[in-house]
Amino acid sequence: TEQSWDVIVIGAGAAGLFCAIEAAKRGRKTLVLDNGKRIGRKILMSGGGRCNFTNIYTSPANFLSQNKHFCKSALSRYTQWDFIALVQQYQIPYHEKTLGQLFCDDSAKDIVEMLQQECDKAGVKIALQQDISAVAFADGHYQLQTNGISRTCASLVIASGGLSLPNLGATAFGFQLAEQFGLNVLPIRAGLVPLTWQPDDKALYEEISGVALPVTAEANGTLFPEDMLFTHRGLSGPAILQISSFWLPGDAVTVNLSPQQNVAEFLAEMQQKHPDQELKTALTRLLPKRLVEKLLEQNLFTNQPLKALNPKSRERIADLLHQFVFKPNGTEGYRTAEVTLGGVDTNELSSKTMEAKNQPGLYFIGEVVDVTGWLGGYNFQWAWSSGWVAGQYC
Ligand code: FAD
Repeated sequence: TEQSWDVIVIGAGAAGLFCAIEAAKRGRKTLVLDNGKRIGRKILMSGGGRCNFTNIYTSPANFLSQNKHFCKSALSRYTQWDFIALVQQYQIPYHEKTLGQLFCDDSAKDIVEMLQQECDKAGVKIALQQDISAVAFADGHYQLQTNGISRTCASLVIASGGLSLPNLGATAFGFQLAEQFGLNVLPIRAGLVPLTWQPDDKALYEEISGVALPVTAEANGTLFPEDMLFTHRGLSGPAILQISSFWLPGDAVTVNLSPQQNVAEFLAEMQQKHPDQELKTALTRLLPKRLVEKLLEQNLFTNQPLKALNPKSRERIADLLHQFVFKPNGTEGYRTAEVTLGGVDTNELSSKTMEAKNQPGLYFIGEVVDVTGWLGGYNFQWAWSSGWVAGQYC
């Protein structure tokens, strides 16, 4: 049997579904293929099950890409406000958690059900558990072989995502297909991912896993003020996940453990007020006690009454806490990464339509493209925006 379609979208995730809805609204006969048993699997488990579906402060500055201008067009044509309006139209209850991050009050299921209803309304067909074995291009049409069925389409949209969470069906399909059609694919790596200890640091810090504190984390000139968490394997928490996308193997991460309070000034003040107080006691006003004990245990400084500190030793302690240098061994990898950095080179695509410049009818959207958002709802906004624009043209 052979079926013919106007548009076939590969990947029933955020980007693919959104593109299919728009294409079908234009009257295009549209089919979505996915290898999984259900649509929007990553949406369902995103944001701890509540889906951080966008960020009210979304701007091109919140994205990493070799071409930082590429995302501008799509983000300005389908904005966070457009998506919020859709969520409101479906009366999905949501709230701002922090830093502009919007989450469902109840469940990420609300977002998936909204997408399913939009697909139904627009007439999008969806085929699940599809194993795509071959794609060819001839006479201006794409031909796909799947589970013994041959399908053709005029427009083929690749929305198969990145490599994070391999047990959720992630595959390198999109990158391989891009290469099959001669498109450049930039090196990929895990992003928004915990960083792991060197063996020596693991032995030291493993004991204080669970300790969390507000910090600023810096790598390669980029700085994020958010919370950091000590784990058995290394450092995590939003500040570290954010910085992981900017970190490269071999780089150090510099953490300011007391971003809100100048430690030297604090110690001078405490010394005046409580000269007999121990340094350890004073520092636990700034930092979690278990962390202070850990630092003392390493003899990074000695516990003594505050009156024994001279200006130089106050400065030394301050430097240590404001510039705590951590040299990660690596990242936890795709197993726990929220995103994949790199991917289909944006130079190969039109930023207006997401179509390949040299391969008519072939589109790439969402995470498979070399556009990666920060933590905080930006990745879904990129999926909605890039999916929406491709849906106007495919
Ligand atoms: P995906 O959503 O990954 O969809 C790709 C689809 O293609 C999948 O259904 C997959 O099964 C299918 N597919 C893959 N290969 C094939 C193949 N060979 N054949 C057929 N189908 C295939 N971002 C946020 O903005 N906010 C969050 O709260 C958030 N939380 C996250 C939590 C976790 C645990 C993870 C892993 C990610 C999170 N992200 C979050 C990132 C966000 O989920 C992704 O950036 C986004 O889903 C990318 O959308 P996409 O449509 O491009 O790809």
